Amino acid sequence: MRRFDGKTVLVTGGGSGIGEASAERFAAEGASVVIADWNEAEGLRVAERLNAAFPGESGLPRAVCVRADVSRSADVADVFAQSLAVFGQVDVLFNNAAVILPKRLEDIEETEFDRVVAVNLKGVFLMMKHALPLLKATRGTIVTMASLNGLVGQKQNPAYAATKGAIIAMSKSVALDAAADGVRVNCVCPAGVMTPLLRDWTGRQEDPAATLQELNDMHALGRPATPEEVAEAVLFLASGQSGFVTGAALPVDGGAMLGY
Ligand code: ADP
Repeated sequence: MRRFDGKTVLVTGGGSGIGEASAERFAAEGASVVIADWNEAEGLRVAERLNAAFPGESGLPRAVCVRADVSRSADVADVFAQSLAVFGQVDVLFNNAAVILPKRLEDIEETEFDRVVAVNLKGVFLMMKHALPLLKATRGTIVTMASLNGLVGQKQNPAYAATKGAIIAMSKSVALDAAADGVRVNCVCPAGVMTPLLRDWTGRQEDPAATLQELNDMHALGRPATPEEVAEAVLFLASGQSGFVTGAALPVDGGAMLGY
C-alpha cells in the first residue's frame, strides 16, 4: 500500500539522520518530497538519491532540495514558493530541522540559547505559519520532531529540552485551532536514536562500551531506536492511518519513559 501517492511532503532537515530516513520512506510510498535544509550539499545528495531510487512521474522530479535556514522567514517563504512552483500543493509538513546544545544551563552563552530557540522553536513557528493556509486547502497534516526530553527531564540539555517542550505545547494549540479545517497536528518524541552522530559521539567517550551500555539501558527495549523506526512513526502520524489522532505527542522511545 502506498499511503502518499499524489501527495507533496515537505521535510525540514531532510539532509541527514531521521529527516533523511523519513524523506526516503515518504518517497517510497509515492510522495513528492521537498527537502529544506541549510546544508545544501547534503540536501542535494538526498534529493538525487531519491530521484534515482524512485523516479518521479508525469515529468516531475521525485524530490527537490531547497537550501534554507528555517529560522529566517525569507528562507522559509522561499521553501514554500519553490515547493508550489514545482509540485503545486503541500499535503504534509514534517518539521525535523533542529540543533542540539548539550550543556548545563550555567555553561550556555546567551547567543547559544537564542540560536537554539531560533532554529528549533521559531523555525517550527515559521514553517507552520506558511504551511497552514496550504494545508487547509489539502486537509493536510503537520508532524513535528519533538523529543522525550520535552515530556520528562534530561540531564545537561535544558535549552534543547525547553524548545522541545514548547514545540509540544505549540502543536497542541495549533491542533485545536486547525481541527475545524481538517488539519491534524502531532509530535513524535524519541529518546535515543542511533544516528551516525550518536555513534561517533559514543565512540569518542572515555569508555565507549560503558557509554553504549548506558544508552541501551535507558530504554526498556534495551537499545536506542533506529532512524527508520522513528520514520515509521512519522509516516503513521502524517498518513490517513492516524486520521483520528491530533494534538498527540507520541513517545517512540522503546519504553524509556516508563521508569526503571
Ligand atoms: P538527527 O540525528 O536528529 O536526525 P541531524 O543533526 O542528523 O539530527 O539532522 C538535523 C538536520 O537539520 C541536518 O540535516 C541539518 O543540516 C538540519 N538543520 C539544522 N539546522 C537547520 C536550520 N536552521 N535550517 C535548516 N536545516 C537545519
